[in-house]
Amino acid sequence: NNYTREDILQMVEEEDVGFIRLQFTDIFGTLKNVAITTSQLEKALNNQCMFDGSSIEGFARVEDSDMYLYPDLNTFEIFPWRPQQGKVARLICEVHKADGTPFESDPRYVLKKVIEEAKEMGYQFNVGPECEFFLFHMDDDSVPTTISHERATYFDLGPLDFGENARRDMVLTMEDMGFVIEASHHEMSPAQHEIDFQYDEALSAADNIMTFKLVVKTIAKRHGLHASFMPKPKYGENGSGMHTNMSLSRDGVNIFSDSSDEKGLSKEAYYFIGGIMKHIKALTFITNPIVNSYKRLVPGFEAPVYIAWSAKNRTPLIRIPTAPEGEERIELRSPDPSANPYLAFAVCLAAGLDGIRNKIMPPKSIDCNIFEMTEEERAAAGAELLPRTLLEAAQAFEEDTYIKNVLGDDLTEKYIKVKTEEYMNYRNQVTDWEIAKYLHVI
Ligand code: GLN
Ligand code: MG
Ligand code: MG
Ligand code: MG
Repeated sequence: NNYTREDILQMVEEEDVGFIRLQFTDIFGTLKNVAITTSQLEKALNNQCMFDGSSIEGFARVEDSDMYLYPDLNTFEIFPWRPQQGKVARLICEVHKADGTPFESDPRYVLKKVIEEAKEMGYQFNVGPECEFFLFHMDDDSVPTTISHERATYFDLGPLDFGENARRDMVLTMEDMGFVIEASHHEMSPAQHEIDFQYDEALSAADNIMTFKLVVKTIAKRHGLHASFMPKPKYGENGSGMHTNMSLSRDGVNIFSDSSDEKGLSKEAYYFIGGIMKHIKALTFITNPIVNSYKRLVPGFEAPVYIAWSAKNRTPLIRIPTAPEGEERIELRSPDPSANPYLAFAVCLAAGLDGIRNKIMPPKSIDCNIFEMTEEERAAAGAELLPRTLLEAAQAFEEDTYIKNVLGDDLTEKYIKVKTEEYMNYRNQVTDWEIAKYLHVI
């Protein structure tokens, strides 16, 4: 999309749009919005819509809390699930401070800054995410549960797959909104699903994830189901990942591709992998940002545990998917859908650019099943562990000045503070597991 102000006014008029939602994402990845009617559209397009920043988690700056929303015209989209008269449309916005300058802790702004850096080096960053999620029942009071009576597994279809009608509606709704859906299928665990949409330039890809989650949750609810992107909702079952496929292009040509290389990868691709691996422990704090994220990153559930890469094997952190020439990319398998996609892509790109700038070659690939290696073999191959808790990730993040700089002082400080509190609060809980294990016998 490349809309002008006039295009927006015209579409609103012709499509009988009644409401416009001005959206943005807070630093923890929650979508926020304020609705306006068309009477306020001119004002919004003049970047004059204001909100109280101090009421948004992580934005709080009590001194000058007035903030402005600057709509990105190219993000205009109509919500197909809302009424057809007096339709509801949305514009994704940048957050600006009272003096008109961009708010440094606006996640979209953070990503834009790194994208700009890449652009100066001649690159466009392309991202294709694979979001997984569960569809659970709600109880009689409409409270979400982790219950599903479904027994389907990977690639199953109805009648085993109870979610196929909901998934179908999700896909059609997204297509209505301009998404190109590449695949949708039942995933490994009962009630688990995946919908893959086409890769895009990173900013649009991050916007798309926010839209994707909204659509999935909205349509699920229409089917009486609760869609959850929680990384590990059920003990003993696969968790939900957000595999992130990444490549760089220059003038529309994929520069990760080099047919003379045995794996089809260019120097830049190897350096990019090297950069990601160098910073991965700190990145994990952003790509796996909640206590529950670390319940997913355990052996036995197709999620990565060790820092390693491979062109063949599916178990490592970074995989090189088989791809037709020109479509080579790297797949980072650790991120989960609780991540703020703007921040996740920003730190991944920054790490990759560090790799390219400093010609960081990754260690040798590990092409066997890393979980079947002995501790000694893994140590010899240099396969270190990913952070095992949110606290370990926070500590690694604290030590990585380069990655912290990408996010800026303010955001970094708030993020660490909130996430450390979150972890400490979790640590203080006495869980059902402990009661079941100890109460009777000790
Ligand atoms: N659900 C797995 C994860 O946690 C991925 C499964 C797959 O897509 N192969 O990452
Ligand atoms: Mg997939
Ligand atoms: Mg999958
Ligand atoms: Mg994948």
